[in-house]
Amino acid sequence: MEPAAQAVGHMVQHPNYILEGTYLVASILFIFGLKGLSHPDTARRGMFLAEAGMLAAIVGTFFHHDLRFFSWIIAGLILGSLVGLGFTIWVPMTAMPQRTALSHAFGAIAASLVGVAEFLMHGAELTLFTRSALGLEVMLGALTTTGSLIACGKLQGTIRGTPVQFMGQQYLNLLIFFSMAGCYIYSLNHPEATLVFYAMAVLGLLFGVMLVIPIGSADMPVVMSLLNSYAGLAAAATGFVLGNNILIIAGTLDGFSGFILSILMCKAMNRSINNVLFGGFGSAKTHATAGSGGTMHEISLDDAAVRLAYANKVVFVPGYGLATAQAQHAVRELASALEERGVTIKYGIHPVAGRMPGHMNVLLAEANVPYSELYEMEQINPEFPSTDVAVVVGANDVVNPDARDNPNSPIAGMPIIEVDRAKCVIVLKRGQGRGFSGLENPLFFKDVTSMLYGDAKVTLAHLAQEIKNV
Ligand code: NAP
Repeated sequence: MEPAAQAVGHMVQHPNYILEGTYLVASILFIFGLKGLSHPDTARRGMFLAEAGMLAAIVGTFFHHDLRFFSWIIAGLILGSLVGLGFTIWVPMTAMPQRTALSHAFGAIAASLVGVAEFLMHGAELTLFTRSALGLEVMLGALTTTGSLIACGKLQGTIRGTPVQFMGQQYLNLLIFFSMAGCYIYSLNHPEATLVFYAMAVLGLLFGVMLVIPIGSADMPVVMSLLNSYAGLAAAATGFVLGNNILIIAGTLDGFSGFILSILMCKAMNRSINNVLFGGFGSAKTHATAGSGGTMHEISLDDAAVRLAYANKVVFVPGYGLATAQAQHAVRELASALEERGVTIKYGIHPVAGRMPGHMNVLLAEANVPYSELYEMEQINPEFPSTDVAVVVGANDVVNPDARDNPNSPIAGMPIIEVDRAKCVIVLKRGQGRGFSGLENPLFFKDVTSMLYGDAKVTLAHLAQEIKNV
């Protein structure tokens, strides 16, 4: 027999080669998918690769030796695809953070339930190593499930978004944590103690709630990426329990990328993870204004249109208000109208503008803004002295000069987009509303700044119309 035919025959007789081969392909696809996601140009391709990897992993599972219930996998595949499709169709782009939180909750509860099932079926027969991985899987999975559900509720506004804090909270949290850890250690040595194992899972669920309620809704993206990393580690632990390589690889990738993302987000806000988790940012205490004094100068739509029409270079700086107003298409329309008049257009993107990493990039990409026009904070800041008009579209904290100039400001040290160095600044917002930090923004009182009030989408559409008529 030909060697190739022999190999195929061998693989058919030993289908685990197919399983491991498919898992290997899936792992490679996950790694390339993750790499693709590191740049907006390749993000879409990265997403497709990761999806293909997921499909390969599911299909590969059909070749598992011990598989007895194909119908359950098929039912799960269909149900999961339907829920995913529903998410894609009905969840708007602005609700993406809460959608992601919900996905984490699903992943984490799946890991937890697999752990509980494995404990029920084989608890006493497992080695100490496997039991320790199984305990971790259930604990991390449980706390990630409730933590993510609370995060989702806070982001959606169904649960109070402000931090819930009370006296002795940290001691209570420590008590829950140590009780959970105690149950974990006890059940390692006493696998027959089913009740202790269940108590550990329940304490994990409770700990997830307690961990997230003291954190304000605006910090939820950082919390979520941390929870994402816990969910990943829970999946990796599941992989050790089941001896499943794909879960170990995918879980570890997820765990560490989530952790790195949390650190990057904290860096961009100039805050430590501890400050996010235990600082209660966004609470009444930190809402105290830095106080700015002076008056704001309003500008009319016509005057703003004239300034823009006769500018050589205009830089748009989008923020959370662009997302709430869904003004991405309107800003693109205005930019095109200006470009037709020969104006140079650039967009300055702050790493934490909006409410999730890459929020502005995603929105602007949806409106087909050319990627070559998007500039990161470090690239755009030196351009402002030569910028005729900087247009702030629903951004506030990320352009607050207090972060740079006032060492006593709660956001001191947070890198900002320095629009105040432009020749003229036009700020588009609805009124006197503050940003996520709850701080007053001295930018709005500067002589160089003019306020153009109204919903960003409506204002931008009117400006585009005016420019066409100038
Ligand atoms: P921001 O500070 O939250 O300010 C948004 C501004 O948009 C508000 O002042 C609001 O003023 C205005 N606005 C809201 N709806 C509007 C509409 N329909 N039309 C026009 N304006 C509207 O936003 P940001 O400057 O983007 O800063 C993001 C903040 O979130 C930072 O403090 C960052 O640290 C934090 N954060 C971000 C992430 C992330 O991953 N991106 C994660 C965690 C925390 P009016 O109410 O007056 O209109």
